[in-house]
Amino acid sequence: MDLISSSLIDQGVYFVVLHVGKALAAPLIMQSELYWVYLFSGFAIAWLVWKLYLVRQATFTPVPASGSFWQNFFSRDIWWHPSARVDYKFYVLNALLMAWLTSQFWVSEQTVISWLPALGSSQASEPMPSSHILSRLAFTLLFFVVYDLGRFVAHSLLHDIAWLWEFHQVHHSAQVLTPLTAYRVHPVDLAVMAWVPAVFTGVLSWSYARWVDPSVTFFTFMGFHALVWLFNLVDHLRHWHVWVTYGTTLNRWFISPAHHQLHHSANPEHWGCNRGYELAIWDRLYGTFIQPSLTPMVFAKGLGDGTDGQWHTLRALFLRPFARFKTQRLRS
Ligand SMILES: [Zn+2]
Ligand SMILES: [Zn+2]
Repeated sequence: MDLISSSLIDQGVYFVVLHVGKALAAPLIMQSELYWVYLFSGFAIAWLVWKLYLVRQATFTPVPASGSFWQNFFSRDIWWHPSARVDYKFYVLNALLMAWLTSQFWVSEQTVISWLPALGSSQASEPMPSSHILSRLAFTLLFFVVYDLGRFVAHSLLHDIAWLWEFHQVHHSAQVLTPLTAYRVHPVDLAVMAWVPAVFTGVLSWSYARWVDPSVTFFTFMGFHALVWLFNLVDHLRHWHVWVTYGTTLNRWFISPAHHQLHHSANPEHWGCNRGYELAIWDRLYGTFIQPSLTPMVFAKGLGDGTDGQWHTLRALFLRPFARFKTQRLRS
């Protein structure tokens, strides 16, 4: 074996070990949404909700509330379901694939800004003393709203454009929800979900720097946008069989974990509902809003199109959308 091929093998092994290691060590990485703080807060909220519901004698899905907290939320029926098992494998393989793809080509907010006319030397990457706290507060809030709108638009494109739906079905083919189901997302879907919001926030950041405050940056906490950090505390419950809503009034303004669980319903009445991430206003304006009831609703999760159960292999999750996309193009 010559020196060049041996070096390529070394680099390949290093790449795999590094990125699989990172994926497995995510609970210890502060910049990860799987950081232990967010996992723990999800767990703590689930336990609290369980205690509150036990008092009210409510019924849980997919198993009745007769068992303990552990039997209900850590049931083998959920965490060792074929749907959940393929989520775990997909999480690791996808992490590897996405690390390679993003190293080759990716559209970030900075990419979008670089497409726009240059801002000049007054734009700094760090906040300058001249950036007034009110300006930073306004930008923090504005960025959050625009980012959330960008994510809603991207998610709606995935639902409403037939060939994109082929790829988004991977996420909706999950029949049980665990926090790792959030990562059951095809690379094409991930690209749409990253690039569309990057265009929205890129244009906002460029416009704000050009016309309002050239040195502004948003407030961050533990490596996240401060408001995104706050929602991270509850977001793992979006993909877990723990029914959490914010109450009748707040449910009209914010997407609770129960809203997103309804988004995963196999019932045709719920298909395509609640596409938002944190703000419910976009769904209300677009006509896709369904208010979850305060007590747990019983419904099956999945596509509900007769293909449920056929997606739980890595091959199906990665390749099936391409095959269906090809068939669709041949038909049209
Ligand atoms: Zn989801
Ligand atoms: Zn969706």
